[in-house]
Amino acid sequence: GCGICIKKCPYSAISIVNLPEKLSKSLVHRYGPNAFELFRLPIPRESRSLGILGSNGVGKSTSLKILAGVIKPNLGRYESPPSWDEIIDFFKGSELQPYFEKIADGKLRVSFKPQAIDALRKYSITVEEALKKVDERGIAGELIDYLGLSQVRDRPLKHLSGGELQKVAIAATFSKDASAYLLDEPSSYLDVRERLRVANLIRSQVAPGRYIIVVEHDLAVLDYVSDLVSIIYGEPGVYGVVGVVKGARAGINTYIEGYIREENVRFRDYRVEFHEKPPSVEWPTESIMVRWSNLSKRLDGFSLQVEEGAVHRGEVVGVLGPNGIGKTTFVRMIAGELDPDEGWIERLQDIRFSYKPQFLGEISFDGTVRQFLQASSVDTSSTFVQAELLKPLRVHNLLDHNMGDLSGGELQRVLIVSALGKDADLYLLDEPMAYLDVEQRYAVAKVVKRLTAEKGVATIVVEHDIVAIDFLAMTIMVFRGQPGIRGEASSPCDMRKGMNMFLKDMGITFRRDPETRRPRINKPGSWLDRYQREVLKEYYYVV
Ligand code: ADP
Ligand code: ADP
Ligand code: MG
Ligand code: MG
Repeated sequence: GCGICIKKCPYSAISIVNLPEKLSKSLVHRYGPNAFELFRLPIPRESRSLGILGSNGVGKSTSLKILAGVIKPNLGRYESPPSWDEIIDFFKGSELQPYFEKIADGKLRVSFKPQAIDALRKYSITVEEALKKVDERGIAGELIDYLGLSQVRDRPLKHLSGGELQKVAIAATFSKDASAYLLDEPSSYLDVRERLRVANLIRSQVAPGRYIIVVEHDLAVLDYVSDLVSIIYGEPGVYGVVGVVKGARAGINTYIEGYIREENVRFRDYRVEFHEKPPSVEWPTESIMVRWSNLSKRLDGFSLQVEEGAVHRGEVVGVLGPNGIGKTTFVRMIAGELDPDEGWIERLQDIRFSYKPQFLGEISFDGTVRQFLQASSVDTSSTFVQAELLKPLRVHNLLDHNMGDLSGGELQRVLIVSALGKDADLYLLDEPMAYLDVEQRYAVAKVVKRLTAEKGVATIVVEHDIVAIDFLAMTIMVFRGQPGIRGEASSPCDMRKGMNMFLKDMGITFRRDPETRRPRINKPGSWLDRYQREVLKEYYYVV
């Protein structure tokens, strides 16, 4: 061990346990007595995009609000806050000095998209009216088209879906004339195509003299939008430390590794593992758990066609497709909540389902988290539930909270624990990664893999995070069509075929990072992108 902390880790690195004392000179903000502390700040660079990566609760949003000028950093003196002169002096010698000089003088115009966008729902003005109000650059019309908001331009904000509201918030952010654009978790609620559009939009806004800063948990998106990456680590809810700024690839790889070499700090005792090659498995018919014929289902103006298929013991099916294409409708049919209009679904006798619905509003429970988990037949005292679910998803300290008091992110984590913590044969997870950080996404993936390997269960996961699908899924179902009007679903096929089908539709290719094996989006039109498309006809990673 390193001799500094009592943890028996095999690394001779500084553990983060004693960091706050060592870093006391770089305390940038403290919310109050015994409250969260932020040490150092991500250093934005002019003419570059800076990505910020870190667990939930380590101060990413706090950092962004400070850089946006929304929070004035108090250097730990919450009782007698420092003046701007003192703050500027504190950052002397770093690029934060001129940055805060401009903030203090009101010379840096910042346009900021906060993490929570629900506040926009209180407005009854339409999308078009809202965007017109902030359109200092005269590009709102263009952004409405580019982000696919044309069909809802006359709809009041309060009637928008999460994804639509997110796109409006992003369009509004870039419609303002500013020299710093700050976006906190822009990909939440968006499907893969929308994430790519937003990522391209952000990239296109990098310009001389301008600052772009993005907090993001979708690693493919973060990788694509960032020139530089800053890691924030620490003890969630207690303190956060901002690490050195690196190039995007090196920064993300460092994060995956859990170790910052330059500072000799290990902030996580494991690395996130990716598989080298898409697994291709032959599924014997005797392992079928659920199978279905060609299915069709109509809902008002929407119609869904599903190709016949099956899910087997030991299989993790990833479901990919745009919003409004029928993914949730399909999952509900498998779960027996909806019947198909045509076709049949055959389930293994006595099969037990565990279903995490997409929308959290459907849950109403009067009682604590502990009571809710007990009522969902989750044994909160089992080592498996504690070590693999409660701890990594940080639900262990929510057990005595009332279900009604939970935030969206907390509720999501509780529902995942309740879905994966009970015994079942088929797990149905509809967009489980929303609100989760990279570690939590990885924890969910590991539990699913473990249940699959040890208990021979099967899982269907609907998800828009391609990197998460990559480390989780064994087969892929692709949904295509016209969102809101008609959807067509393929049967589950092997990763390579499914990903190729999906990525071809999206118009992007992936490669693998040689060091970590994580999938990375190829730059459109780059040599590799063209080679994979035109010569290899492989959209999914080959190198
Ligand atoms: P992240 O964006 O990385 O998830 P945040 O910056 O939102 O983290 O929050 C970091 C910590 O600071 C959290 O524990 C949060 O509860 C706390 N915090 C955030 N805002 C306030 C506030 N206004 N007063 C007190 N504590 C706060
Ligand atoms: P996805 O999960 O792919 O986003 P959904 O299966 O939720 O898509 O919805 C597909 C389409 O069906 C959407 O246009 C949605 O508005 C419509 N839809 C879903 N449920 C109902 C319902 N109960 N009644 C009418 N339309 C519905
Ligand atoms: Mg945040
Ligand atoms: Mg859905």
